[in-house]
Amino acid sequence: MVPPNRKLTPGETRILICDELSPAALGVFGERGLEPVVRTGLDEDALVEAVRDVHALVVRSATKLTRRVIEAAPELRVIGRAGVGVDNVDTSAATERGVVVMNTPTGNTTTTGELAIALLVSVARHVVTGDRRVRAGTWSKKGLLGAELTGKRLGVIGLGRIGRVVAERAMGLKMEVVGHDPYLSATGAGSPVNGVELLELDELLATSDFVTLHVPLLDSTRNLLSEDRIARMKPGARLVNAARGGLVDEAALARALDEGRLAGAALDVLAEEPPSADHPLVGRDDVILTPHMGASSHEAQHRVAVDIAKQIADFLLEGVAHNSVNAPAVDSDTLRRIAPYVILAEKVGAFLAQRTKGPVRKLEVTVGGELAGTDPDYLALSVLVGVLNQSELGVNRVNAPLIAKDRGVRVLTNRDGDAHSYASLLKVRASTQGGEESHLVSGTVFGRAPRFVRVDDLHLDLAPEGCILITRHSDRPGVMGRIGTLLGDAGVNIRRVELGTPEKEGADHAAGFLSLDAEPPAEVLDAIARVDGIEEARLVRL
Ligand code: NAD
Repeated sequence: MVPPNRKLTPGETRILICDELSPAALGVFGERGLEPVVRTGLDEDALVEAVRDVHALVVRSATKLTRRVIEAAPELRVIGRAGVGVDNVDTSAATERGVVVMNTPTGNTTTTGELAIALLVSVARHVVTGDRRVRAGTWSKKGLLGAELTGKRLGVIGLGRIGRVVAERAMGLKMEVVGHDPYLSATGAGSPVNGVELLELDELLATSDFVTLHVPLLDSTRNLLSEDRIARMKPGARLVNAARGGLVDEAALARALDEGRLAGAALDVLAEEPPSADHPLVGRDDVILTPHMGASSHEAQHRVAVDIAKQIADFLLEGVAHNSVNAPAVDSDTLRRIAPYVILAEKVGAFLAQRTKGPVRKLEVTVGGELAGTDPDYLALSVLVGVLNQSELGVNRVNAPLIAKDRGVRVLTNRDGDAHSYASLLKVRASTQGGEESHLVSGTVFGRAPRFVRVDDLHLDLAPEGCILITRHSDRPGVMGRIGTLLGDAGVNIRRVELGTPEKEGADHAAGFLSLDAEPPAEVLDAIARVDGIEEARLVRL
């Protein structure tokens, strides 16, 4: 085994490619003197055997790199995902073992944006139905009157990489383009695309002739186009989704089409893929469905394969990490030592981003106790990644500072010798614009398990995992009991409860943190919010 800190020579490097990848990748590896082995379609047991001596693994989306697989690979240094989403890689397991995980965030952007445009044009002009008729031997345009795009309003929800491509292309089609993206800096240059006015979501929905979705699927965006929001769309509008299933309430969309409130939809993605044969959107003339093929162009597949091969070669042979989603400007020994705090820091960031109603604009990160001997910047970066990941895809330690700058998020760091009776303490305060809202979390690690020990002015012992229901309520008998009954009736078990009286709010106010075994349905959360005495009930997912 080559010592983990020594760079590898091409001859001793072992790379395993686990998914179908454009052959261009082999060419790039070959130019650097590297000869990967290609073995696709391995199940978990076969992978565990296959990874024992490898230094690098390359996947697309099919192969699942679980904790068991990662832990079976003692020499593993890097995992490369040709594409964006790393949901098929256990990044926590990789981080704990100092394994760098990298992706290729930009290779698919243009291609996916172009598919959205293709869907937009097709749904406006019944292109697919027309083709189906001709195939069936019917030469008739009856009922195929379409809508012109010129002069129509397109609402782009999510003006990130792909949303911007779509907005720019649509302006070339002479559409009037408006956008909605609450996470873009409120302070700075206004819209990221010249000529695209930013609107509140409801106004965009009510006024757009076409709506196209380009946001990541996150807890905060799941069911973004809910029944209620679909009902607020302009009558006769058409919807395009080439982002992710789960963003749209598909049953409500089918009803809106049935009732003639919307004129059509074109979806590349569905909540369940492939859909069942009786799915309400399958087989309709007013709906175009494509099989999640947004990134499927020769150019995109070539680009992501070449990008990942270059990145892996650079990392193995030169130690340079591009587009790492978990990695470090710290050496792998330090990363191994602080790994539990890195995971804690991301959880603190994710918690604070969800706890705060408005977008976080300032983070103050203090490392205390033994941790004070470590450079706080890496942990602060991890907090930032946790925050930004709540609103954005593909945030990593390389691009997080840039994204933070773009969004007007400031990060301040501090060291403090005092860890308040803990060996080490990570303390983070997150504030919104102008400090209107501000929350504090302190956390530590017991063994290797992250724990929150303080939230705002409440001291507690909270395992930051799964669903946590946060309440602010009046401190009188029965309030907690009613919450427990509502959850119990919905079959949701409360694993642990932390209750206390926040010093600032006086003795008749209490805060609760309920760790739940499962996510309660939305109507149960609504019912909890309406319980007499409840001032706030907010679900946080970690
Ligand atoms: P990105 O991270 O560059 O952009 C996402 C944007 O959404 C960000 O600007 C973010 O601020 C914004 N956003 C987050 N929450 C929002 C909300 N509630 N309302 C409005 N905006 C919000 O991501 P990207 O690379 O442009 O990818 C966009 C989507 O496309 C993702 O869902 C991705 O998974 C999907 N995608 C699909 C395919 C496909 O095959 N169909 C291929 C690639 C990417």
